[in-house]
Amino acid sequence: MILPETRCPREVTEELEERMLAPQAAHAARTRGRCVPTAPCPYRTDYQRDRDRILHSKSFRRLAAKTQVFVAPRTDHDRTRLTHSLEVCQVARTIARALRLNEDLAEAIALGHDLGHSPFGHAGEAALDAVYRSYDPDAGFHHAAQSLRVVETLERDGVGLNLTWEVRDGILHHSKGAADWADDTAAASTLEGQLVALCDRIAYSSHDIDDALRAGRLAPEDFPPHLVAALGPTHSSRLTAMVHDVITASRDLTAIRMSPAMTVVTNELKDFMYTHLYYVRSIPSHIRVRIAECITRLFHYYMAYPALVPGLAPGADRPTVARAVCDHVAGMTDTFAEEQYARYVAEE
Ligand code: MG
Repeated sequence: MILPETRCPREVTEELEERMLAPQAAHAARTRGRCVPTAPCPYRTDYQRDRDRILHSKSFRRLAAKTQVFVAPRTDHDRTRLTHSLEVCQVARTIARALRLNEDLAEAIALGHDLGHSPFGHAGEAALDAVYRSYDPDAGFHHAAQSLRVVETLERDGVGLNLTWEVRDGILHHSKGAADWADDTAAASTLEGQLVALCDRIAYSSHDIDDALRAGRLAPEDFPPHLVAALGPTHSSRLTAMVHDVITASRDLTAIRMSPAMTVVTNELKDFMYTHLYYVRSIPSHIRVRIAECITRLFHYYMAYPALVPGLAPGADRPTVARAVCDHVAGMTDTFAEEQYARYVAEE
């Protein structure tokens, strides 16, 4: 006889996690919790709920109109921040399942990791950092810290998404920038957070090649032959090689890593991409100048007219105004920034 189920679906899922996930995985029932304690959902675990909060946020929808790498000309097949985030999520879930880590936590971190990205990709990020510092030398802009700020304080009209500690920790620690990959103390506290950081690099270093080749900004013969030999010639072969390597090298679950040989290959590939694409060919120099001018002059304009900045109380001091202006500009899509520039700045 089958006894009637007395537990709610979330409790059943939590018990399944207990039985199926590795002991080193982050189990939803053992979360460090939220800043504001909230009654649990009867259907979803806390990490599933966080994933849904991110997916339904306005910041997430805006990723569709934010640059990944290519600003202009951009085609319908180029990655955006949204499709990049989805690809990071797919790779992270594949590896999480293979290693019996928590797929829901990896998914939530992956979907949220780039919520704080400024318009116009890293060219926009650099311009925003510089102009923000000119008003407040103690401040600065980095997209990972801004992603945390989005989920903690900016979303839902200043209330934030009230996510679990593990998701926020993973979002904050996802970026290594141009640095080589290494096990280090700046890593996320959970294996799922470490996994998303590595999958971010796996995803962009492969799909940016795909976009660059299709756009004719790089040619197959530009790539060092030993990198092609190690990773294969296609987006699929590169992902397969890197995913297989991470699963094999991380089996002991003491950390998420690549093998020493693949670490060398991917670091060289990253250096090649920075030298031959990100710094030189991803954005034509006259567009790069236009991006810096757009971000910088918009920032100056809002500093002069703070009443135009949403949510900013009258009479705020200069660092507070600069912080609010930075949040406002960072949250813009490429298209909205261009519209605001045309509306307020170009006519001055
Ligand atoms: Mg990313």
